[in-house]
Amino acid sequence: MTTFAQLGLAPEILRALVAKGYENPTPIQAQAIPAAMQGRDILGAAQTGTGKTAGFALPLLHRLVTSKAQLVRQRAPRALVLTPTRELAAQVEESFRTYGAYTGLSSTVIFGGVGMGNQITALRQGVDIVIATPGRLLDHMQQRTVDLSKIDTLILDEADRMFDLGFIADVRYVMRRLPDRGERLTMMFSATLSLRVLELAYEHMHNPKKLAADAGTKTAARVTQSVYFPAGEEKMPLLLGILATFKPTRAIVFVNTKHVAEKIQRTLERNQQLAGVLSGDVPQRKRMTLLERFKKGEI
Ligand code: AMP
Repeated sequence: MTTFAQLGLAPEILRALVAKGYENPTPIQAQAIPAAMQGRDILGAAQTGTGKTAGFALPLLHRLVTSKAQLVRQRAPRALVLTPTRELAAQVEESFRTYGAYTGLSSTVIFGGVGMGNQITALRQGVDIVIATPGRLLDHMQQRTVDLSKIDTLILDEADRMFDLGFIADVRYVMRRLPDRGERLTMMFSATLSLRVLELAYEHMHNPKKLAADAGTKTAARVTQSVYFPAGEEKMPLLLGILATFKPTRAIVFVNTKHVAEKIQRTLERNQQLAGVLSGDVPQRKRMTLLERFKKGEI
């Protein structure tokens, strides 16, 4: 089995991995990291839970740390990560902070639903890595508050979700305005390598190496799944029963409307289960606070 030390990553990155307690790369990391370190474009079929974030974050950090450009702190960012959702952008940035803790590299996150002021300030001060959702990045591009002319690494995370959520036109717009694909490293990850994702890769990547986290299966091996088929009126008792039986420290319930979400929250709270509602019309600040409390195990 490979260790991170054997991959030849920069010592300041290895130090962060040691601090985190990571010794062995996951399969997708073991494939993606060496190829990306050699400058090869990567097209990876990988889900959340496979370790794909470190799979692109580690070689990206390595590339920035070892490139000479780091000697001169530039104002323009050199790496761009595009994600379909604000929450994923925030999570990816947290990973960069963790893995890049000893590199001296800086990152910032750019997404909608919050004011542009702080984002403009961060960009103006100069930042190495920008993690962004496509819509807000476009706003910055149009207002010329971001300079993407120095981007030499592009990551497109959850490419298939970009299509599903209708962001693909924005993504294409951004990609067309970056340095040419032959002059940058591009890594694209997607749950599935569907035809539309392959087509996008064909348009914007340079002879990518295709990787698959675990061929054929859509779910990470460490995840156990169960399915129940309750009648409508059995759903709430079943949920309460599951919570009482498994006593999860953190649980997420997905529903199809905000109204139902609020109804479930009220029932949970009547049953001594603290719960929060996250939906599109909850203001972004509140969403972040809720997620923070959720991570801490407060709700
Ligand atoms: P991801 O698929 O990127 O969302 O990562 C899933 C989880 O695995 C995250 O909580 C990571 O912190 C963790 N992780 C990633 N790489 C490793 C590794 N090599 N060893 C142990 N845990 C890891």
